Amino acid sequence: MKLFNTAERKIETLKTIEDGKVRIYTCGPTVYSAPHIGNFASYIYWDLLVRALKAEGYKVTRVLNLTDVGHLASDADDGEDKMEKGAKKEGKTVWEIADFYISKYMNDFHALNLVEPTKICRATDYIKEDMAAVDAMTKNGFTYETSDGIYFDTSKYNNYAKFANLDLENIKAGARVEFNDEKRNASDFAVWKFIKPGENHAMRWDYLGRPGYPGWHLECSTIIDTELGEPIDIHTGGIDHIPVHHTNEIAQTYAISGKKLANYWLHCNFINIDGQKISKSLGNIYTIEDLVERGFSPMDFKLWILQGHYQSDRNFTFESLDAAKNRRLNWRNRIALCLQNPGRDCGFTRESLQNVLSAVSNNLNSAEAFAIIDNSKLTYEDWVAIDELFGLNLINDSPDISDVQKALLKERKQAREAKDWQKSDDIRHELELQGITIKDGPTGQIWQYLN
Ligand code: AMP
Ligand code: ZN
Repeated sequence: MKLFNTAERKIETLKTIEDGKVRIYTCGPTVYSAPHIGNFASYIYWDLLVRALKAEGYKVTRVLNLTDVGHLASDADDGEDKMEKGAKKEGKTVWEIADFYISKYMNDFHALNLVEPTKICRATDYIKEDMAAVDAMTKNGFTYETSDGIYFDTSKYNNYAKFANLDLENIKAGARVEFNDEKRNASDFAVWKFIKPGENHAMRWDYLGRPGYPGWHLECSTIIDTELGEPIDIHTGGIDHIPVHHTNEIAQTYAISGKKLANYWLHCNFINIDGQKISKSLGNIYTIEDLVERGFSPMDFKLWILQGHYQSDRNFTFESLDAAKNRRLNWRNRIALCLQNPGRDCGFTRESLQNVLSAVSNNLNSAEAFAIIDNSKLTYEDWVAIDELFGLNLINDSPDISDVQKALLKERKQAREAKDWQKSDDIRHELELQGITIKDGPTGQIWQYLN
C-alpha cells in the first residue's frame, strides 16, 4: 500500500509497526449540528482506506472520536464553544444536542455502509485522562497559566512548525492582538479552559480548584494514548486540520510522553458545491437525508466521492451526482447480467480484479480502479470482491428476480413465440411497475433494473 504521508510530503510505502496489523485514528465530527455531505466526504475516503487495507490482508484497529466538548468557533481558542452555541440555538441542553447529533451522524454513517470502527470515543468520556495529560505537560515544562486557562507554550517544542511548515513569524504578525494578550506566542493554544464566575458553560469539571473544560485538541492526544498507544500507524483528517489541530496534537503528545504520535498522516481536500464553499450563509448545505429526498441513494453519493481522489478539491453538482447514479445502475445491471447468464460478463477476470486492487493500493486511486471496472469483463465473484472493497451495496441492491417474475418472463417468451404482442407488452409493463425492464436481444430476453 502506497500513501501520501503529509508528515514527509511524499508518497511512501506503508510499513506498519506490527506485521500484518494497522492501527488508525480518525478525527471525528463536532456534534453540534447536522453533518453535511462535505463532512462525510472525509469519512468515505477513510472507509476506502480501511477496506483497502483489509483487502491486502491487514487486521485493522481503528478509533474514531466524537467531539462533544471544547471545540470553539475558531480553531484558535477564540469565540463561543460550538456545543454551547448549538444548544442555545435549539433551546436544548448541550448533552441533548450531543446525543441528538451523534445519533444523526451514526444514522448517516450506517446509511453510507461505512465500516464500523473498532471503537468510537466521546471526548467527554476522557476528562480524567485529559487532566492527567495536562498534569504531565505541566510537569514537563510545556504549559503556563493565564487568567482563562492553561496554555501550551509552543516555543518549548522545537519542532512545532515542522509538520505544517508553519511560518511562525507570519502567524505572530497576523495574530489578533486584542484577543488574549496573556499568550506568550501567537501559536500557543489552550489545553484547559477555566470557566469564569457567572460564565454560562454547562459542560464543566473541577480541576485545579475551579470549574473548566479541556481544550479541543487534547481529546485526540488522550484518546490515542488510552485506546491505541503511540505511535499509531495512520492518523487521518481533513486538510483544515494540518496547521492547527494536528500540529497541536503532535506537540501535546510529545510534551506528555516524548513520543511520536503517528507514522503516517493522511489528509483529504474539501468538496465545494456548485463552485462555492459549503456554508450556512450560502444555503448550500446538503445532508445525506437531503440527497435521499431528491431521489438519490446514499450509495450514489459514496460512488460520486470515490470517483475522485482524496487529495483533490471536488466540485459537487446534482448533474454529476446523476452521472454517478447512472454509473452505479450500470454496474448493478452488469451484476443482473451475471445472475441471468453466469458466463456472460466474464473473461480476463483475475487480471482485471488484480488491477482494481493495485489502483486502490496506489494511494487510494479509486478513480483509476473505477475506469478499470468500466472496461473489464467481470464475473459475479469479482463483483462481490469489488463490493467488499468499495462498500457500495452493489450486491445487496441487486437481488435476483423472484420466481413469480421468472415465471412472467417465461410466459412472455411463449407469448412472443406465439406472436401475441399485446400479452408480451402487458407483461413488460407489469414488470416495469416492479422496477424491472426487459430488453429483447439476439440472445433472447434480458431483464434489467430500472433504478
Ligand atoms: P467538524 O464536524 O466541523 O469538526 O468537521 C469534521 C471534518 O469534516 C472537518 O474537520 C473537515 O476535515 C471535514 N470537512 C468539513 N467540511 C468539509 C468539506 N466541505 N469537504 C470535505 N471535508 C470537509
Ligand atoms: Zn483530532
